[in-house]
Amino acid sequence: MAPVIILLGPPGAGKGTQARILEENFGLIQLSTGDLLRAAVSAGTPSGLAAKAVMAAGALVSDEIVLAILKDRMRQPDVAKGIILDGFPRTAGQAAALDQLLAETGQKITAAISLEVDDAAMVGRVAGRHSCAACGEGYHDQFKRPARAGVCDKCGGTEFKRRADDNAETVRDRLAAYHAQTAPLIAYYDSKGVLERIDAMGAIADIRQSLGQIVTGITA
Ligand code: ADP
Ligand code: ZN
Repeated sequence: MAPVIILLGPPGAGKGTQARILEENFGLIQLSTGDLLRAAVSAGTPSGLAAKAVMAAGALVSDEIVLAILKDRMRQPDVAKGIILDGFPRTAGQAAALDQLLAETGQKITAAISLEVDDAAMVGRVAGRHSCAACGEGYHDQFKRPARAGVCDKCGGTEFKRRADDNAETVRDRLAAYHAQTAPLIAYYDSKGVLERIDAMGAIADIRQSLGQIVTGITA
């Protein structure tokens, strides 16, 4: 059965960075509801229009919209390789809907991996981050600069973008939303026997290593 891996953790924990690494190393498909929603916002779809202000305020988009967007993405054939869910589920309702969706297709959750971090460090991590406009590679003003200033290591691109919601105020609201609505899912997946916890306060390469070990173990 193709692996279904959930990455849990607050904004700034490194879910997106690590999901991209897992995608490259294990041939899994990263499904980021944040990316899917941002694409809907730029495309100006009805879901995107409804989500835009909610995202800018650092609150959670409705389960209805998020589930519609995710289900749509899950209909693409590439997800058969196995998926890494990044930023989903974020509410108890989304977790229940995911269980049902997987049951319908004879799949189940392989692991839910909680990236454990200190909230206090997340504001700085999120506020400094940006990505290559051409290939999406992530960077950080302090923690991950390109080898040559202003030039993407991956593709040589010279344009970078920052997310509209990556500012100190909005991060605080996103952290609050995480603790109120998403953190309870850690206990939920623990009770299902699929929870793994890793220390995600270290360097990207160290976290990559601990995560790689877990994923090797479960995909073997
Ligand atoms: P981060 O994990 O850094 O907050 P994301 O890209 O995952 O970044 O999410 C950005 C925003 O998109 C969230 O603050 C929220 O408004 C919206 N969003 C993303 N995924 C979900 C989801 N599963 N449920 C509700 N809202 C979501
Ligand atoms: Zn690039």
